[in-house]
Amino acid sequence: MGKVLIIGAGGVASVVAHKCAQNDTVFTEICIASRTKSKCDAIKDSIKNSKSVITTAQVDADVAENVVKLIQEFGPKVVINVALPYQDLSIMDACLATGVHYVDTANYEPPDVPKFEYKWQWAYREKFEKAGLTALLGSGFDPGVTGVFSAYAQKHYFDEIEYIDILDANGGDHGYPFATNFNPEINIREITANGRYFKDGAWVETQPLEMKRTYDFDQIGEKDMYLLYHEELESLAQNIRGIKQIRFWMTFSQKYITHLTVLQNVGMTSIEPINFKGQMIQPLQFLKAVLPDPASLGPRTKGKTNIGCIYRGKKDGQPKTYYVYNVCDHQEAFAEVGSQAISYTTGVPAMIGAKLIMTDVWNMPGVHNIEEFDPDPFMAELNTQGLPWQESFDPQLVSEA
Ligand code: NDP
Repeated sequence: MGKVLIIGAGGVASVVAHKCAQNDTVFTEICIASRTKSKCDAIKDSIKNSKSVITTAQVDADVAENVVKLIQEFGPKVVINVALPYQDLSIMDACLATGVHYVDTANYEPPDVPKFEYKWQWAYREKFEKAGLTALLGSGFDPGVTGVFSAYAQKHYFDEIEYIDILDANGGDHGYPFATNFNPEINIREITANGRYFKDGAWVETQPLEMKRTYDFDQIGEKDMYLLYHEELESLAQNIRGIKQIRFWMTFSQKYITHLTVLQNVGMTSIEPINFKGQMIQPLQFLKAVLPDPASLGPRTKGKTNIGCIYRGKKDGQPKTYYVYNVCDHQEAFAEVGSQAISYTTGVPAMIGAKLIMTDVWNMPGVHNIEEFDPDPFMAELNTQGLPWQESFDPQLVSEA
């Protein structure tokens, strides 16, 4: 069918490459390109039993011209950006310059100011529309599948969704006292920021980890979870009919929070550069360098993730509740593609989004968040590509206070 360019060679990119290679009648040619070519080569070498032709390339995607050159050489139909959020805009510019569709899993971040806002990417709407190109934003799990779940709930079960609780639980254990499951910089930025949720048309701010609940997760058991701001809240608040409140919850163990609190108290999570022996260093980047590489956690991690959304609203004037979620096993993911469930649950949806664009099932010129597309083909793919979902119409609810 066609060519796909994958940018990035981290944990998520590796899963994307494996899953594209499994779908070799759709992705007949795959180029894996990143800052460090040897990492692309290692991913290529780990892929077996695929008819896709796989090549690798070096690219610094901070500079749009570099990406333009690579796209012109390789000629893909779709680019999957699974580098870091800092590269989103340069890669989008390159896609516009070359007439290629764009998929990512995280919103653009200016390097020095953590914002978690879509405004920079939404500013490209008209340009992509005029060029007849589709930019699919946030095709990971959260954002990603959580948006697809929301579109599916809206399409099939509700006239109005009033309340959404997104629940992201990780019951995995890697055996280290402290490590982050994906890029530590992004992960720690997310957790140390103030919490925020959407209520009655406005944003309510909380202190970091101020709101805590306990939830009994299917196949994981009881976990403490904390209210965080998460980027899909911004687009869901705009795209879901009748919405009154959206909250996002993520589980963290007490051990994780204790380590993080200490690191924060001593200044190690700061993104303010400091002068160390004549060299400017960012404490958080230094911390990243001493922590275990998330990619190395795969073989050690046991247990499951459970991520899903609880919806409350109305259908035909009657109150209705719906919970849809996926449970993913770290070791099964590792056995299949050599990565743990956090990378797996992000990489599989990125491949699915690209597949739907590659096959013209999703074709909507402009810049769109994932919940704006028809959820049905994506929901069907989840079941066959390794992330089957389950549903319940009578779930345990997350208390309001
Ligand atoms: P990693 O840090 O493991 O990998 C990032 C990759 O991007 C590395 O290979 C890195 O290269 C490469 N890279 C960084 N800068 C550049 C550049 N300037 N040019 C080219 N390549 C570059 O991250 P993950 O794989 O864990 O995450 C990838 C993305 O997925 C992130 O944007 C993250 O926010 C997102 N994500 C989304 C989730 C979701 O559910 N929506 C969940 C988890 C992650 P090098 O190896 O040289 O450093």
